[in-house]
Amino acid sequence: MGLKKNPKLMSKKLYIKTFGCQMNEYDSNRIYESVSKIGYKKTEIFNEANCYILNTCHIRDKAKEKVYHEIGRLKKNFKSKQKPVVIVAGCVAQAENNEIIKREPYIDIVIGPQSYHKINDSILKHISKREKEQQTDFDTILKFDYFDKIRNNNNKISAFLTIQEGCDKFCKFCVVPYTRGPEYSRSFYKIIDEAKQLVKNGSKEITLLGQNVNAYLSKEKNKNFKLSDLIMSLEKISELKRIRYTTSHPKDMTDDLIECYRNSKKLVPFIHLPIQSGSNRILKLMNRKHTVEYYLSLHEKLKKINPKIEFSSDFIIAYPGETEKDFEETMNLVKKINFINSYSFIFSPRPGTAAFNLKLIEKDIAKERLKIIQDQLFNHQIYKNKRTENTLVNVLVENKMSNQKKFFGRTEHMTGTIFDGEKNIEGKVVPVLITSSNKNNLFGKVKLKKNIRAA
Ligand code: SF4
Repeated sequence: MGLKKNPKLMSKKLYIKTFGCQMNEYDSNRIYESVSKIGYKKTEIFNEANCYILNTCHIRDKAKEKVYHEIGRLKKNFKSKQKPVVIVAGCVAQAENNEIIKREPYIDIVIGPQSYHKINDSILKHISKREKEQQTDFDTILKFDYFDKIRNNNNKISAFLTIQEGCDKFCKFCVVPYTRGPEYSRSFYKIIDEAKQLVKNGSKEITLLGQNVNAYLSKEKNKNFKLSDLIMSLEKISELKRIRYTTSHPKDMTDDLIECYRNSKKLVPFIHLPIQSGSNRILKLMNRKHTVEYYLSLHEKLKKINPKIEFSSDFIIAYPGETEKDFEETMNLVKKINFINSYSFIFSPRPGTAAFNLKLIEKDIAKERLKIIQDQLFNHQIYKNKRTENTLVNVLVENKMSNQKKFFGRTEHMTGTIFDGEKNIEGKVVPVLITSSNKNNLFGKVKLKKNIRAA
């Protein structure tokens, strides 16, 4: 496979634009590390690219149109320059494959997420034969075998680490089972090796990623390894300060994982656990495979272990068939749990999914319901942030802010915090005295713990 430097590509530049989720961000970093093996160097200047990769996301509305819009922009910019090798990667590439090249001949290579191990060969082949390349097989095992041999050089304070991909649950609205393929879990030992490498590079927080991260299950050396085993093993890496994971499914929230919230000192007391709707009838229509009561029982168990645990969720509003009563039930749940940092969207049909042809709820009604739920979610968020004012909050410092003397970091609950502080605090967990707040952020200054109550 193409892992040797190609002299012709040694001074060539690679630009990657990433849309969507944290997994795409992780993938883009790994793609760069693969492509750098044949000689490309990364550039942040889009105009000087010799190879342009668009890593796409299919979750949000108008994903396809966004791709064509970006390529249009690219064409305009390179009108009087040499055309770069143009690659469309990610979930739109997987879902649309040949169609994209047919509609936009400026694109040279289409590659789906489970074929990234073929990216070097595809580029080299395209350069030598000038043919279009399309790679959209589900070769997940080969992909991870390939990337396990390439060191992860990411040195961000907060790093992502993919442990699982794909999904077998087939919620009726979701494209993931079609774009990322069936559930696959990476080797436990390889994940631990990669985590140690990230910490060696300087990372202090690791977020374990998977479309169904808590369905993680790897059978190795006659043992079954679950997400809880990974968390308790990562716990032992002394320089690592925080562990997160996302995105989880309520059905896979097993007792061993719940117990980690008691046994791990590094697992943060924050969980993104999407419920999508507070109505059992809608959950059934969505094929979510859990009930509201079950979700509430998980909430109760976790809160009993640690009352500081906060929940975040995704909500799909106006799913086909949602009545006023169903929506009221969602609102009741939102008020009961007091979610923070959550996401809510009006249902939008994705081609190829079971819900694609269902009758939509009237736009005005959908918009009104979205406003009601967002007001509730945002008001609680404002209230919660306000309550942290004049208290000390532990913040992991991620970076100094550009053009400012301030630092940026996150609380255990993922709330972005901007604050004044001393030099050389990046990578440290520091107590920040919160002096003000808004919906999304806290503001303050680093303070020694003296006579101030801790939040
Ligand atoms: S469990 Fe998550 S990834 Fe799987 S189909 Fe449902 S929403 Fe999509």
